[in-house]
Amino acid sequence: MFSVLENQVGSRLLFPGDERYEEKKKVWNTAVDKKPAAIVVCEKEEDVIVAVQFAKENQLSISIRGGGHHVAGFAVWEGGLMIDLSQMRQVTVDESRQVALVEGGATLGDIDLETQKYGLALPTGTVSETGVAGLALNGGIGYLRGKYGLTCDNIVGARIVTADGLAIDVNDQSYPDLFWAIRGGGGNFGVVTKFEFALHKVGPEVFALDVMYDFKDAKEIFQKAQAFLAQAPDEAVSINLTVTVLPPAPFLPEFLHFKKVVMLLGVFAGDAQKGEAVLQPLRELAEPIIDHSGVTPFAAYQKKLDQMVPDHVRVYGTSLYFDQLTDETIEQILNKVDNAPAPSILVQLWALGGKMNQVPFTATPFAIRDAKFVLLVDCMAMAGDDDVCKQWIDSVYGGLLPFSYKKASYLNGIAENEEATKNAFQENYDRLVEIKGKYDPENLFQHNHNIKPLK
Ligand SMILES: Cc1cc2nc3c(=O)[nH]c(=O)nc-3n(C[C@H](O)[C@H](O)[C@H](O)COP(=O)(O)OP(=O)(O)OC[C@H]3O[C@@H](n4cnc5c(N)ncnc54)[C@H](O)[C@@H]3O)c2cc1C
Repeated sequence: MFSVLENQVGSRLLFPGDERYEEKKKVWNTAVDKKPAAIVVCEKEEDVIVAVQFAKENQLSISIRGGGHHVAGFAVWEGGLMIDLSQMRQVTVDESRQVALVEGGATLGDIDLETQKYGLALPTGTVSETGVAGLALNGGIGYLRGKYGLTCDNIVGARIVTADGLAIDVNDQSYPDLFWAIRGGGGNFGVVTKFEFALHKVGPEVFALDVMYDFKDAKEIFQKAQAFLAQAPDEAVSINLTVTVLPPAPFLPEFLHFKKVVMLLGVFAGDAQKGEAVLQPLRELAEPIIDHSGVTPFAAYQKKLDQMVPDHVRVYGTSLYFDQLTDETIEQILNKVDNAPAPSILVQLWALGGKMNQVPFTATPFAIRDAKFVLLVDCMAMAGDDDVCKQWIDSVYGGLLPFSYKKASYLNGIAENEEATKNAFQENYDRLVEIKGKYDPENLFQHNHNIKPLK
């Protein structure tokens, strides 16, 4: 059956048994171990077109791999055709228009590397190996969100291979409905081979927060951080609070090995000197264990967390939004931390606000524009710990759901969950269903937080 496709893409079509197949089917979350029937390693848009056409004609399920980092492992599917974009990572900056053309398999690091040469940046995420496609299509929450919005808010155009196997240019003039849908609606509408993103003047040096506190002070830290954020300017609201148990890693001093801590990270998206003054209170929330805050190159800070993140890991994750951290909510969150089963947990509270919350609810599908925090919780399973981790993650979601904002989750941080998908889109869901029905009535692109077309 595959000979037609093989004639078109040659050795870029991989089958089980091939060493390259084994490597390409592996996604960041190794708890997801699925075997596609074949993988097309795309080098150009034509490869994507023939792969989509072939899958459609042969009724093969399609999965799309951008950076392969989604916790649900959507990029790989049992028995399907995997469209792998990991060789399509080119980034080109147009300095005069302040935009970047970015191929669909690029990582956040690829983008920072090019854009920072011009003192420009795209708001993305916090780990440089993450793929931009999945991140941007469902939101994109990084250190510049308060000043410049989400990654999806900065999409100004895209080249998309639709379910018809046609490549089209999508922007506010051409296919405006599709342009609306891809700014938060995920990979439901086709394969994005290229994005056009708006860039902003950032750095090259910024004032960045890098403080570590003892977990025993967590409640006070959350309370004081919330009070700070309520009056902070847009440049200073993109603060991430992370509770974790530090690994026994060589880059950490021995006294920190296995220590439960609260880390505060964030960038002042403006003048570095001003940033130091504005962010100072966040360095005094309690007695810090370590404070490495200071003026630093933006591109380097964007890679700061890379060394803490394994290349591959067995992981279970969930997410919920909050409009405020009441004492009870904080206690519930900390209680979950206390009852965590594995040493490797990551409980992240990202402050929301500023520009990303000033975009009208219906301007893009990303509907949660007035929450104040998003919680992302991951549990990394050690050998044999999968069930315990999974149960704990379920208990975090179930236990915190009553305290959450609109029972909504950040879709880039949660496994498949139909209710969470609807809650994330709120009143935008019906419009997404309509657009899905128009462009992908057979639901060819379904390995994502799926928007099912009406029959
Ligand atoms: C270590 C780590 C750090 C993270 N940090 C952040 C962060 O700081 N901020 C944040 O907002 N999120 C963060 N995330 C979550 C991240 O946004 C998601 O994992 C996102 O899905 C990653 O995109 P990807 O292309 O790597 O994913 P993939 O797993 O490749 O894809 C995810 C989904 O997008 C679809 N897709 C991928 N590429 C395309 C394409 N070209 N066209 C159409 N559909 C496509 C896939 O089919 C799939 O459904 C992080 C995740 C990890 C693992």
